[in-house]
Amino acid sequence: MEILSTLLKPVVDFALPPRCPICGVTVEADNRFCLSCWNSLDFLTEPWCASCGRPFAFEQAAGTQCAACLKKPPDHDGVRAVVAYDDNSSLLPMRLKYGGRLGFAELIAGQLERFLGEIPADALIVPVPLHRWRLWSRGFNQSVLIGRALSERSGIAMETGVLARKDATPPLRSMSAKERRRLVKNAFAVSHDAQSKLKGRAVILIDDVYTTGSTANACARILKVSGADQVTVFCWARVLTEYDQS
Ligand SMILES: [Zn+2]
Ligand SMILES: [Zn+2]
Repeated sequence: MEILSTLLKPVVDFALPPRCPICGVTVEADNRFCLSCWNSLDFLTEPWCASCGRPFAFEQAAGTQCAACLKKPPDHDGVRAVVAYDDNSSLLPMRLKYGGRLGFAELIAGQLERFLGEIPADALIVPVPLHRWRLWSRGFNQSVLIGRALSERSGIAMETGVLARKDATPPLRSMSAKERRRLVKNAFAVSHDAQSKLKGRAVILIDDVYTTGSTANACARILKVSGADQVTVFCWARVLTEYDQS
C-alpha cells in the first residue's frame, strides 16, 4: 500500500493548468512532456532486430537478428515500443493503471502512430485482455484505452472480444522469465466466432509494457493458431535489460 500511495501522491497535485505527466511542472497543453522529461526519455529507433525489434547500438545488415532471437525466435513478429523502460518512462503506465490518469492512453497512442507505416491497412487492433477480476477491481483495461485511442486516430478497427484471459495470473513483476512463461502459457483463448475475423489478418497487439515477452508470445501464439497472419506488439515501453524473449 505504501508503494501505491507514493505513486498516487503526485497525481493528487495534478490539476489545471496542464502538467508534465512525469515530473508535474506546468506545460503548455494536456498530455505533453516538459522539455527536460522529453529529453530524458530513451526513444527507440532503428537499427533494430529484424525479429523482435530490440534496438542495436550500431548499424547492422538488413535482416540481422539479436542474440536472443537467434537462440529462440519469438512467436510474435516484432515489438514496436516507443521508449526504453526506466524510472521515468515507467511512471506513465503506472499512473495510467493505478492513478486513473486515463488521458495518458491518448498520449501513448499518439506516440504509437509512428509505427503504423509498416502495418497493413486492414489490420486489427487487439488489446491484451485483463482477467475479469482485475478488470472489475481496476474498472478499465489500460490496453483497451490505448487501443481505442489508436483506432480512433488511425481508422484501424479494434476488436476487444477476440482474445480472452482464461486464468487470473498473479502480478508478474517480481517473477523470473521462466515463471512468467509457465504462468501465462495457456492463460489466453480466442473465441470461436473470432476465428473468421482473424483469418489472414495482421494483428496489432496492444500492451502497456513489454517485459520478458511471455504475455505477448502467449497471445501471439494463440492468435496465429486461430488464423492471424502476423502479430506485431505495440507498447509504450520495453524492458531492455532482460534477454529472454520466449
Ligand atoms: Zn517533466
Ligand atoms: Zn530479437
